[in-house]
Amino acid sequence: MYETKYHKAASIEQAKSLLEGGDDAQLLAGGQTLIPTMKARLAAPSDLVDISKIDAISGVCIEGDVVSIGAATTHSQVAASADLRSICPALCDLAANIGDPAVRNRGTLGGSIANNDPAADYPAAMLALSAVIVTDAREIAADEFFQGMFTTALEEGEMILSVRFTAPAKAAYAKFPNPASRYAMCGVFVTVSDAVRVAVTGAGNNGVFRASEMESALEADLSPGSVEGIAPDVDDMLSDIHGDGAYRANLVSVMARRAIAAL
Ligand SMILES: Cc1cc2nc3c(=O)[nH]c(=O)nc-3n(C[C@H](O)[C@H](O)[C@H](O)COP(=O)(O)OP(=O)(O)OC[C@H]3O[C@@H](n4cnc5c(N)ncnc54)[C@H](O)[C@@H]3O)c2cc1C
Repeated sequence: MYETKYHKAASIEQAKSLLEGGDDAQLLAGGQTLIPTMKARLAAPSDLVDISKIDAISGVCIEGDVVSIGAATTHSQVAASADLRSICPALCDLAANIGDPAVRNRGTLGGSIANNDPAADYPAAMLALSAVIVTDAREIAADEFFQGMFTTALEEGEMILSVRFTAPAKAAYAKFPNPASRYAMCGVFVTVSDAVRVAVTGAGNNGVFRASEMESALEADLSPGSVEGIAPDVDDMLSDIHGDGAYRANLVSVMARRAIAAL
């Protein structure tokens, strides 16, 4: 790991000024992705600005059917939120199955979506929930936020503060985890509100995506059978030592049917 200077920020304002003050400063949330990347010498920030203890961006807040989750809220906190479970249990279940307890106790929602790993769970949820990503500069719809593998709409130095969404009438997530890392080989998040939204992670060779053909079929018939035979193009699928494109395309179909059955 290269040398770096560590700063603990107590407020959003302090985090922003520390970010601007460093040559190549980076935000540190749970460190579950950034620290391993630094250890592998794939990242060498001049300064680490730790935002994990900023109260203003931590916690779950529910007003009516509108849910806001602070960017520094850990996976464990999301999983354990009784308020969230009463209004959107699928998101609690998703968080409860991220990585292992050590990862869940440190890793945060904000760090996960900022990183936008193609096999991460939260991007599928945010896309299917039609969430709004609130940053220190603007509000970004999930459909505009996720822009391909490890790519988002975030500008240099832009900080995610929270995510916000209206709890859907129904939601479910089905994940086929990589047996070693627990990342999604394929995860499908389905929501039903004014419209049906289906988002897929872990399978696409350009990161999280909406399964629009399945959405149309489900608009007409909200049953697992209606997506039978609908699978993404094999050429658009990830292919690696864990599974080839045909395997993942089939997984999308299987996981989608499981999620729909769980609605
Ligand atoms: C063994 C292991 C297993 C895992 N399994 C899974 C899994 O099953 N599913 C899954 O989804 N993930 C999994 N993860 C990843 C985990 O969820 C990480 O927590 C997540 O990817 C990054 O979150 P973090 O808070 O640790 O971010 P960090 O590592 O602190 O930061 C990641 C990146 O995001 C930036 N960043 C952090 N917070 C913000 C913010 N508020 N605004 C803007 N940029 C920000 C940082 O600067 C950095 O570039 C796993 C990780 C490990 C080590």
